[in-house]
Amino acid sequence: MYDINQVREDFPILSRKVYDKPLVYFDNAATTQKPLCVLDAMREEYLNVNANVHRGVHWMSQQATELHEQARETVRRFLNAKSTTEIVFTRGTTEGLNLVASTFADECMQEGDEVIVSTMEHHSNIVPWQLQARNKGIVLKVIPMSDDGILDMEAYKSLFTEKTRIVSVCHVSNVLGTVNPVKDIVRIAHEHGVPVMIDGAQSAPHFKVDVQDIDCDFFVFSGHKVYGPTGIGVLYGKEAWLEKLPPYQGGGEMIEHVSFEHTTFERPPLKFEAGTPDYIASHGLAVALDYVSKLGMDNIAAHEQELARYAIQRLQEIPEMKIYGKLRVEELRDENDYNRRKEGYGFDAVGKNSQLLSSNSQHSTFNSQLHDAVVSFNVGNIHHMDLGTLLDRLGIAVRTGHHCAQPLMDRLGVLGTVRASFALYNTKEEIDTLVAGIDRVRKMF
Ligand code: PLP
Repeated sequence: MYDINQVREDFPILSRKVYDKPLVYFDNAATTQKPLCVLDAMREEYLNVNANVHRGVHWMSQQATELHEQARETVRRFLNAKSTTEIVFTRGTTEGLNLVASTFADECMQEGDEVIVSTMEHHSNIVPWQLQARNKGIVLKVIPMSDDGILDMEAYKSLFTEKTRIVSVCHVSNVLGTVNPVKDIVRIAHEHGVPVMIDGAQSAPHFKVDVQDIDCDFFVFSGHKVYGPTGIGVLYGKEAWLEKLPPYQGGGEMIEHVSFEHTTFERPPLKFEAGTPDYIASHGLAVALDYVSKLGMDNIAAHEQELARYAIQRLQEIPEMKIYGKLRVEELRDENDYNRRKEGYGFDAVGKNSQLLSSNSQHSTFNSQLHDAVVSFNVGNIHHMDLGTLLDRLGIAVRTGHHCAQPLMDRLGVLGTVRASFALYNTKEEIDTLVAGIDRVRKMF
């Protein structure tokens, strides 16, 4: 484990005050704070080796290119991809999802072909497919979920037809914290010859992801949610898919040769990286990934698991508290939860977890019962916006609203929730502050 006090010193923003109250930052699912090493590295690069990458023969351009390509290798290691050619830099999860939706639909889908998504997707894994539905007449099919926020895997299996072309689902719900059984999802899709894209925006920051172990065809995440800068993200794609898909945007860097008659393209990953990349941000991301790797993803997972367990326990003490998703404390008591995550979260029907939960789950064979460092709730009749606004006055930053998951809100039958999301630097004392704050607001109403 790491020393939490020492870690907090790496994030100076955590010691600032808001409305004269010590900041409690629980909006980490939206974006995380940045350690000094990331800020310093980016400043250093601007100060000392700033030059455009890939195209200069001069020393500084070569240095900048080396940092950028080293960053690709750092990401490869972080995801355990086979090769750096499978790592495409994007602006973030949203761009990665759009890139695949657009190029995959162009290359591999025709009118009437189907994509499977789930009820708990972020808008960024719904709307890009809807744009393709509008352009190409493709059809969205949706994996239903239980009231507990668990994907119905039997229903998932029954969604496949001869027209299913791709499955695109989140690894972890940004609202419920449900960790989906992605290995099972991939295995079932592959049995039908269908590739799978995983939205890893809420998994990559919290536990070790191994794309080879999951065997997904595409995996996307955002740098800013993993303590890195904004404006940079990653699309992992199996080499064969990246070779097959057409370019997403045209411009510099992604071409091999251009004439007015005919243009040939670079091989992946450059084929998908038109224009000047955010090479300062890629370097910042690499430093952030090195930072979390040094702390240990297993240690981070264990720390956050403990926070989630404690938060659920404490929040349940509040009268009229409604927590969304399958977040029962008794299911979190198993100290080995985070060890299973380490395995890419794909334990199967005979896994310990299934047995643990088979008694209270109708889909125990596949169900994921873990949850990540996210807790969504409402308290009595207090409007989520009122609660969030009043907590803010106490220095507590939580997110309120639909969390870019309106179809999920519809399924839960609410307009919105309050969401507290944790990061490697949060503490139990901060959770106590949250609980006391909610109690104070509740008494006002
Ligand atoms: N997918 C999920 C599950 C998310 O939580 C988010 C952001 O909250 C996104 C996608 C979009 O990420 P970004 O805005 O960084 O592209």
